[in-house]
Amino acid sequence: MIESLEKKTRCWNCGKESDRVASPTGGASPKDGDVSFCIYCSEFAIFDSSFVDGARKPSPIEKDILDRDPTVQRLKRLWAIRFSDGASEDAVEEWRSEGKGRDG
Ligand SMILES: [Zn+2]
Repeated sequence: MIESLEKKTRCWNCGKESDRVASPTGGASPKDGDVSFCIYCSEFAIFDSSFVDGARKPSPIEKDILDRDPTVQRLKRLWAIRFSDGASEDAVEEWRSEGKGRDG
């Protein structure tokens, strides 16, 4: 389920803003320290309300943990398949509308 964020976040890597979030567990609003995955560039960030952009680049230790997580690697592979032609705004909107259709 895709939910609106109270505050937009900006990706530290590609600079794209995000005002929506989807959680695999459903219904959970992100808290500081939660992991964020950028749908546009497939980089991870850590939600952190003390940052102007609302999220920050993972520390080297956090990145190392993410790089070793099989679920994270699976998510990156799925992203690469889904957005093999590039994660343009149109492609992301199309993906979001597919999610709406599935979730009702
Ligand atoms: Zn990004």
